[in-house]
Amino acid sequence: MLQVFRYIYAMLKAVTRCLLSNPLAGRRMMSHHIPQNLSGKVAIVTASTDGIGLAAAEALGQRGAHVVVSSRRQANVDKAVSLLRSKNLKVIGTTCNVGKAEDRDKLVNMTIEQCGGVDILVSNAAVNPFFGNILDSTEEVWDKILGVNVKASFLLTKQVVPYMEKRGGGSVVIVSSVAGYQPMQGLGPYSVSKTALLGLTRALAPDLAHSNIRINCVAPGIIKTRFSAALWENESMLEEFLKLTSIKRIGQPEDIGGVIAFLCSDEASYITGETITVTGGMNCRL
Ligand code: NAP
Repeated sequence: MLQVFRYIYAMLKAVTRCLLSNPLAGRRMMSHHIPQNLSGKVAIVTASTDGIGLAAAEALGQRGAHVVVSSRRQANVDKAVSLLRSKNLKVIGTTCNVGKAEDRDKLVNMTIEQCGGVDILVSNAAVNPFFGNILDSTEEVWDKILGVNVKASFLLTKQVVPYMEKRGGGSVVIVSSVAGYQPMQGLGPYSVSKTALLGLTRALAPDLAHSNIRINCVAPGIIKTRFSAALWENESMLEEFLKLTSIKRIGQPEDIGGVIAFLCSDEASYITGETITVTGGMNCRL
């Protein structure tokens, strides 16, 4: 009899724990000591004047890396550079629309000239010019999305490889999305481009390993940035998304920045060709 009561009590406790979702769950508890495990490293981060890219730049800088931030607009670059410098991080910046070959050249050349080499590339830039039924998407839309999100990631990676080889190796991190696992309604072409990045990561890993370069991917869930505002500004839509998570809060850019920095560090020296989903527990399966 006693055993039955104990069993029921344990069951009730477990159910209550599930029902009372803790809004603070998964939140970092306090500022902690950050290891300087990237000091001496030079890191290029694309689309790094806001959101996830900016958080990645900050996380890399906090670990001692010399960071090169970039995005399309000079005013955004200036703002990000002064913000990160105000936090005592080593940073320079330039404009770079990753979809333009001459901009990619400028970014890499400036990095080599001003920082002496490159060890880390975070390919974070993406665009989504289309929302709607996938059958209504045009060739122009596909060219733009695949050009910026996929092709530019590959071309930039290819461009930094010889410089990483000169340093004896390096690390590339590509930013994909949970949408790469399960296409989001209305975001068909964008989702497909993010699935392609999972493939690109795996396709490049064996070849880059010959040069001691690791390449990995991060697939964020719903993160509170301007890019995803349409998903979280509407409360009922956000509620629907949160139902898919275990940790009942929207992600913050810093939740992704730290994972990117980890993948770039020697702590991750035996990880390559891998995608880490950072989604608060959303189900991700191809
Ligand atoms: P965000 O906060 O809106 O920031 C976007 C950044 O990209 C800005 O710095 C913007 O600056 C720059 N940018 C836009 N187009 C660019 C281009 N063609 N070339 C270079 N820079 C460009 O966006 P985010 O949410 O952090 O998104 C970053 C990455 O995370 C994207 O790859 C996105 O697909 C991925 N992601 C986001 C979420 C999410 O929920 N937020 C979820 C999964 C994946 P300028 O305007 O000055 O160019």
